Amino acid sequence: MTAPPDIADLVLFTDLDGTLLGDDGLPGPAAPALARLAAAGVAVVWCSSKTRLEQEALRRVLGADGPFIVENGSAVLVPGSPPDLPRRSGYGLGLLGVEAVQVRAELGRQRGRLGVSFRGFHELPTAELAAITGLDLEAADRARAREFSETLVGLSDADRSVLEPALAERGLRLACGGRFHTVTGVGADKGAALRWLMARLRRAPGGSGLRSLAVGDSENDLAMLRAADRAYLVARVDGGPVAPEGVERLAGVGPHGFAELVELLLAGAAGVRR
Ligand SMILES: [Mg+2]
Repeated sequence: MTAPPDIADLVLFTDLDGTLLGDDGLPGPAAPALARLAAAGVAVVWCSSKTRLEQEALRRVLGADGPFIVENGSAVLVPGSPPDLPRRSGYGLGLLGVEAVQVRAELGRQRGRLGVSFRGFHELPTAELAAITGLDLEAADRARAREFSETLVGLSDADRSVLEPALAERGLRLACGGRFHTVTGVGADKGAALRWLMARLRRAPGGSGLRSLAVGDSENDLAMLRAADRAYLVARVDGGPVAPEGVERLAGVGPHGFAELVELLLAGAAGVRR
C-alpha cells in the first residue's frame, strides 16, 4: 500500500500509558505500527507523564529519535544541539513547567508551614518505592528521576485541601492521578507542549504545512487532543473519558487502537481538517 502523498506532513502526538503501551507496559501491536509510520515519514512525538529516563529506555527499544514531551507537558526535549534552546542532558530544552528543585523546595516549605503530611518520591528508598509502585528497582529509579515535578504519597484528602491552594498561590498545580498526587508548574500542560513544538516545527524550513494529530486515552490527554488539528481517543476497558467535540473514538483498546489509527492514516482515511 502506498501512503497518500501528504502523509509526511503529519506530526502524530501520542500518549504512552494506555495508548501506545498496554496494561503490561508493552507496545504490542503498536510496535509494528510505529515502524510503518517511520517508513512513511510520519513524525511521532511521545507526550507522557513519564520522565526522560523512562522514555529514553523505551526510545532505545522502539528506535524513537525525535523530540519528546516529558512529565505531563512540563518540558519538550529536542535532540541535537538547537542553538536557540538551553541544553539539558544532551537535548535542547523547551521548559513549560518549573524545575523539580523548585517544586521540592516549595513542597518542603509548605509542609513545614501548613503542618501537612506526605512524602515525595525522591524521599523514598528505592526498595520502598519499588514496593509501592510495583516497579522493579531500576524502573523505580527511572520513575523517581523527576526533573520538572514531584510525585507525592500519603497525602490525605484533608491535607490535600490545604496544600492545593497554597501551592497554586506559588504557581504550582497539584493533580490527583489515582493513588498518587503529582505537583508541576501551572504551565506544564500537554496541550501547551504540543502547541510549543508545532510552532517550532512550522518555523523550520519546509515546515509551514505541518499538521498535528493527537491520540490519547484519558482525562490528562484532553488538553493535547483539543490543541491538535485532529484528535483520537483509543478505547479503554473502563470506558474512558467523554470524547470532546471533534475527537474521534477508536474501537481498539490501548495499543490496539493506536495500530487501528495507523491503519486509517496509511489508508488515507484519516484526513485532517484544513
Ligand atoms: Mg494514558
